[in-house]
Amino acid sequence: MAKVKAPVKKNEEHILTFEDLTHDGQGVGKVDGYPLFVPYGLPGEEALVKVVKVNKKFGYGKLLEVKKPSPNRVQPPCNVFYQCGGCQIQHMNYEMQLQMKQNQVKNVLNKIAHLPDVPVHPTIGMDEPWRYRNKAALPVGEKNGELMTGFYRMRSHDIISNMETCIVQDKQNDEMVQAARDIANRFGISAYNEETDRGVLRHIMVRTGKNTNEVMIIFITRTKHLPHKEKIVKALTEANPNIKSIIHNVNDRRTNVIMGNKTYVIWGEPYIYDTIGDIRFGISAKSFYQINPVQTEKLYKKALEYAQLTKNDIVIDAYCGIGTISLFLAQKAKKVYGVEIVPEAIDDARKNAELNGMTNAEFFVGEAEKVLPMWQAQGLQADVIVVDPPRKGCDEKLLQAMIAMKPKRIVYVSCNPSTLARDLRILEDGGFQTKEVQPVDMFPQTMHVELIALMSRE
Ligand code: SAH
Repeated sequence: MAKVKAPVKKNEEHILTFEDLTHDGQGVGKVDGYPLFVPYGLPGEEALVKVVKVNKKFGYGKLLEVKKPSPNRVQPPCNVFYQCGGCQIQHMNYEMQLQMKQNQVKNVLNKIAHLPDVPVHPTIGMDEPWRYRNKAALPVGEKNGELMTGFYRMRSHDIISNMETCIVQDKQNDEMVQAARDIANRFGISAYNEETDRGVLRHIMVRTGKNTNEVMIIFITRTKHLPHKEKIVKALTEANPNIKSIIHNVNDRRTNVIMGNKTYVIWGEPYIYDTIGDIRFGISAKSFYQINPVQTEKLYKKALEYAQLTKNDIVIDAYCGIGTISLFLAQKAKKVYGVEIVPEAIDDARKNAELNGMTNAEFFVGEAEKVLPMWQAQGLQADVIVVDPPRKGCDEKLLQAMIAMKPKRIVYVSCNPSTLARDLRILEDGGFQTKEVQPVDMFPQTMHVELIALMSRE
């Protein structure tokens, strides 16, 4: 086979025009047809780029100078934007972010699902695309003997030193992370060290109920004991009366997973409350809860609209978490069956049904890909099936059970366009048609996008 030679060499400088963006937000420009991926390059821009890595089919470059800036380029408001791995596209104005996410979804539906004609609506954005996150989870490190909290530098595990504010984070979360860190520091708690696997405090997590202002603080340690627990609790609760729950979680494994298996309530309630629309939710430490409540309400309203429920409809909500979508749907349906793998989340879901006086939602612990085939074999007939899987999408066994159940409609909520497209293809081949897809901007300033798709058999 003839060896194709890249037309560029490492350390060379080239002027190019960006034509496109990668899925992680890098500009793509070509030199004699050879693509270079360049962080912070925007489509339409002409720039001077230094080649930093040369692969067979593509290379990487560093942006040295933007010669002709895009009208969509803006000054990133965060002063650690270029070091932090959290946000990728603060240098792009919000209109372009929304437009880009819509295009990305269209492309993926075309390429992976072979559905070029399905309508993909304009991305539903936020009026104020900042300070939207209701959950902060920061790694704890040490510098000159003092504790520090910050995000990881891009593609690394170095902590950006003591970040005082994160402008996509709820303000109260920002303040509480700092308060918890400073209090732990005052009582001499050491930071966990990934390399030596020694030290105590690994992460500080804070959750705020956006509509209630209630706060949960979670200390995640390697050790079984959190030293000076009582003093920490006293200092924290004196600092902020909104704190309703203080949790200690033990994670003694060498892993990137933040939380471990043992969870103790060291003060207050095991959960905090929040509301979405008319429904109130209790959220415990280990349960999944959407991180952007403003957009979540829009997403769930869309789910309800797509489900087109009548009072006779039976609904399955797979990957139901604490029952958020289930309870939204239960308002209009005859009966909702929720299934979810985390037992704590199902406990929350049951309590949440009770809390809202809803008796037509029933929840089950289990893997959706095992439970749905079982229900199908038992003859359960669902009119509508809603799925909201994690990034890896639905298991094939679950998709086959859905096809066999023949519901009138499927509402697929996804945080990953690629796996959504893969699964839509399988469901299409099983007799469903994709009617429309709605992107919702759940994660402004990042390349992530949330989606909701409607399929039906008609
Ligand atoms: N619909 C919920 C949760 C969506 S997140 C909401 O909007 O809040 C995805 C959920 O799927 C998480 O709660 C996760 O614990 C759960 N999960 C992951 N794998 C699963 C599986 N194989 N079977 C059932 N649930 C699963």
